[in-house]
Amino acid sequence: MLIVPEALIASLVSPEDAFAAVEATFAAMARGEAYNFPVVREALGEGRQYGFKSGLDRSGHMLGVKAGGYFPGNAAKGIINHQSTVFLFDPDTGRPTAMVGGGLLTALRTAAASAISIDRLARQDARVLGMVGAGHQAGFQLRAAARVRRFEKVIAWNLHPDMLPKLGAIAAELGLPFEAVPLERMVEADVIVTITSSPAASLMAAHISPGTHLACMGTDTKGKQEVEATLVAAASVFTDEVAQSVSIGEAQHAVADASLDAASITPLGDVLIGRHPGRRTASEITLFDGTGVGLQDLAVAAVAVQRAHERSLGTRVEV
Ligand code: NAD
Repeated sequence: MLIVPEALIASLVSPEDAFAAVEATFAAMARGEAYNFPVVREALGEGRQYGFKSGLDRSGHMLGVKAGGYFPGNAAKGIINHQSTVFLFDPDTGRPTAMVGGGLLTALRTAAASAISIDRLARQDARVLGMVGAGHQAGFQLRAAARVRRFEKVIAWNLHPDMLPKLGAIAAELGLPFEAVPLERMVEADVIVTITSSPAASLMAAHISPGTHLACMGTDTKGKQEVEATLVAAASVFTDEVAQSVSIGEAQHAVADASLDAASITPLGDVLIGRHPGRRTASEITLFDGTGVGLQDLAVAAVAVQRAHERSLGTRVEV
């Protein structure tokens, strides 16, 4: 098997690669050629979380698992709190084929999913991008969104305002004017990306204008929430995978209070393969509930492995 360490990923997988790989994966899921196994997520105590996201893609010839979690004590040890590694196996034999560092890949595949939703569901004339959140993932999200629409301005809100200048620097790099705003000013946005670890809704229905596309990317666990449930219920809801959306995604709250019918949630893959038209009117609010599926991780890890083989990079070991 090939070991591809975290340090090599940036030179092997680009945001464009991640976009193409995740798009192909969502389409394979919609065609029934790929499916995710149930997510395992366990609290280890002292704030530590650990879990597994896995799946099989028959058309892409991919089988594997991302193992990882959140270890709040790591920062004091000089390593990052989020840790993850992707393991790939030969779907015909079960033999391990690769072990790949999963940190940057997670950010790339998550930003790609959000960008695919903006590409397919946001109005073509979207000009103002709203960012809710300014942590590690937010910069990747901003860069990916800027690739799919001609934004002219970025407005941003974060619970911790001291984190916003770092996001502003990325907007400046992209040549986009950046303004920190109160949540009420999100009515000016055509597209809003939410990427926080919030346990309660920040973004309310009153903060949104008709015709907005929301990419809700932060809620990936039971109990997290970024957006008011009534706003989710009033939107046309799309997701990476319905089973995750209703259990660990942003839609969990609206489904739990019965204001949203799980059967009305559309997999984004259905839009990609032409089974669903996506946005129907300019005034419709579309919402992508990006929960993060294991198959996304396998797809980008497979790109890293292919490139590493082509360039004779990584370390080969017998297991
Ligand atoms: P981070 O720790 O770097 O940043 C956390 C962000 O949440 C910051 O903007 C912070 O100000 C904000 N925040 C913290 N507590 C808050 C609260 N009580 N109310 C509102 N905002 C609050 O984290 P990150 O790596 O940027 O990840 C952000 C979120 O995205 C996390 O919830 C993470 O689990 C999730 N995530 C989702 C996917 C996916 O596929 N959907 C992938 C990776 C990360």
